[in-house]
Amino acid sequence: MRNFLRNITLSVLGFISKPEPGIHILNAHYMNLLNDFDKGEQFKKQLKQILKYGELIRIEKAVELINNKIKVDKPLVAFTFDDGFLDCYTVIAPILESFDTNAAFFINPNLVECLDSYYEEFSERATVNSKKIMNWEQIKYLYNRGHIIGSHTMDHLNLGDEALSDSILFDQIANSKRVIETKVGNNCNMFAFPYGTFSHLSDKALDIALKNYEYIFSGTDYKNYFSFGNKVINRRHLEPFWSIPHMNYFLSANKRY
Ligand SMILES: [Zn+2]
Repeated sequence: MRNFLRNITLSVLGFISKPEPGIHILNAHYMNLLNDFDKGEQFKKQLKQILKYGELIRIEKAVELINNKIKVDKPLVAFTFDDGFLDCYTVIAPILESFDTNAAFFINPNLVECLDSYYEEFSERATVNSKKIMNWEQIKYLYNRGHIIGSHTMDHLNLGDEALSDSILFDQIANSKRVIETKVGNNCNMFAFPYGTFSHLSDKALDIALKNYEYIFSGTDYKNYFSFGNKVINRRHLEPFWSIPHMNYFLSANKRY
């Protein structure tokens, strides 16, 4: 019932909203959590809708504009996807490439090519619903095609948990960067902390992230470009299978530096 009311409200708001000027960094996960048959038709509709009002820009460009506190006169939209689902490789990246843009994919190194028992344990921490995960070869292929591979911690832990020791935090944040760099061959300079709200990043975790990455992303406080004292860039949650009115509403915020 709550979901139903939310859908109705968003649809009504969506019909009277449109994407507003600003640099919108979207945060998504998969084509569709409940089936593997979505070949991205709705995602293509979303991208075409954005092009009616603005532009699709590369994620590197988006962070550069935001870091320089640039104001823009149309919606510029960039993409990020968390957790490394196979959809990123099979559907999402090819569609983004056909629209001449890219995305940052934030992965959990320990989930890649993991044992079934680890996958089960991971599923209890994050919603994965038996969905398949990209392997290293596929991740490397995305990097070679011009996408960014970022870290989402080794194991998708809640970095706001004060019980995590310094060595665990270091492993989750700094070592995940090293593993990605070794496996993929890139300079991994983007980090998105799991769960993404204010309570999911402790001061200690933020400090380690700042020492290891150029860009850190949350998934909250979307109307402000930055959170955590201008140290973290905020993203807007918007999945590629959501409706156009919902997307219009989510991109209608007036964003502030
Ligand atoms: Zn995640």
